Amino acid sequence: MFYTSTRDNSVKVSSAEAIAQGISKDGGLFIPTEIPSISKDFIDSLVPLSYIERAKKVLSLYLTDFTADEIAMCVEGAYKAGKFSSEKVAPLADYNENASILELWRGPTCAFKDMALQLLPYLLTVSAKKTVADKTIVILVATSGDTGKAALEGFKDVPQTKIMVFYPNDGVSPMQKLQMATQEGENVCVCAINGNFDDAQNGVKAIFTDKAVAEKLAENNMMFSSANSINWGRLVPQIVYYISAYCDLIEQGKIKNGDEMNVVVPTGNFGNILAAYYAKMMGVPVKKLICASNSNNVLTDFLKKGEYDRNRKFYTTTSPSMDILISSNLERLLYHLTGNNDATIRDWMGKLSSDGVYTVDADTLSQIKELFDAGCCDDKETAETIGETYKSGYLLDTHTAVAVKVYEEYVKETGDKTVTVIASTANPYKFSSSVLKAVCDDEIDNLDEFEQVNKLIETTEEPCPPQLANLKEKQVRFTSCCEKAEMIDMVYKMLEIE
Ligand SMILES: *Cc1c(COP(=O)(O)O)cnc(C)c1O
Repeated sequence: MFYTSTRDNSVKVSSAEAIAQGISKDGGLFIPTEIPSISKDFIDSLVPLSYIERAKKVLSLYLTDFTADEIAMCVEGAYKAGKFSSEKVAPLADYNENASILELWRGPTCAFKDMALQLLPYLLTVSAKKTVADKTIVILVATSGDTGKAALEGFKDVPQTKIMVFYPNDGVSPMQKLQMATQEGENVCVCAINGNFDDAQNGVKAIFTDKAVAEKLAENNMMFSSANSINWGRLVPQIVYYISAYCDLIEQGKIKNGDEMNVVVPTGNFGNILAAYYAKMMGVPVKKLICASNSNNVLTDFLKKGEYDRNRKFYTTTSPSMDILISSNLERLLYHLTGNNDATIRDWMGKLSSDGVYTVDADTLSQIKELFDAGCCDDKETAETIGETYKSGYLLDTHTAVAVKVYEEYVKETGDKTVTVIASTANPYKFSSSVLKAVCDDEIDNLDEFEQVNKLIETTEEPCPPQLANLKEKQVRFTSCCEKAEMIDMVYKMLEIE
């Protein structure tokens, strides 16, 4: 199998090259030239297997230039016993008689990004060995919270890699800041910047594309790569858990092999829901892909009307990981729906960057409507949903609550009783303050982060994951804060090059 670029069909690379490079030189994203299909029998063969064994079988369909031993080493390293707080890795919890919650936050940093970022470092080091021999891979990340910590945890002490994370000093939650500042590992570095997330992101992009910097790294036998969700190596691990969830529903007797399921995903950059689309295209009988957004509802409008318009107010919400107006991975979906039309994608993405808006043709829109449903909800509805769902026995985080609310609205509108999987993307203790306000009437603004955590434990009796509760005791290792213009110096300092 080969990979090409959404913006240039003449590109033809192996999966290792796609993963090592991260993004195509033309600015497009790497996509497989054909989507492998799986049969009913293949799904039957997965049902009795563990998550690790299921992952090996699914990944081998996409990473055809990896040996079976390489895939086994990667998957076993990523999901080995003890790393995730459930032996099922991504277990299903009951929501109601028709719907289950797919808990994707059982990993080391309590957010769904672990599902991919525990595996990516392994995929990347194997890919680098195949394509760029003995170079050290330098991962630069700009983060608004969850990605930075998950990437640090995934890459910590991985041989021949170094990782540096920049975050906006006043733009992450206290819990997220502490998670990063206490990061362990000899090859990691974390630095705050005086600026917002866009400043961090632009600074990282500028360093990435600076030729002089690239040359200096090359002289020192190093190269940059990317750990954000435009990298195919982050998307492919996510396909596994939708197929695995379908197998679990069969195992639990909730469906028979061949029955349909719906999938609801709280969406930001469109990576997670795109993985569900690939699972459907491979042959998993997914009926509707339901895309849930917060007040930044650019995707809701797009999936209903076919016009993508980022020229709108940006809201800072209680589900910050979905506060996004440019959903990068949508480009991959559009490429597939237009029948691999790279010229059309160049046109639309060009308009998005010049005018902030583009409109798809009628055929593409009708395919989108067949595949997707979409909805959004604001912070007030998010809090109400956490409160109501808690009363019936399940404590949701703010992002998952958006998905639950959109699912409830969908059922009200359509009466669709199809068995449904709702993707749950974070543990509620990662967003203690908002969750606590939704389930407790007391005044809490005077409490610090850990007092809020304790109050949430007292109120709900839900266990707090030890890796969050124990942060208080951990040594703070990183306190640097730099100006935007100093970011490159921080990178050189970390890499110990002049
Ligand atoms: C990143 C993130 C999302 C959004 O996922 P995308 O793949 O970007 O759509 C949703 N919830 C949480 C908690 C996240 O960290």
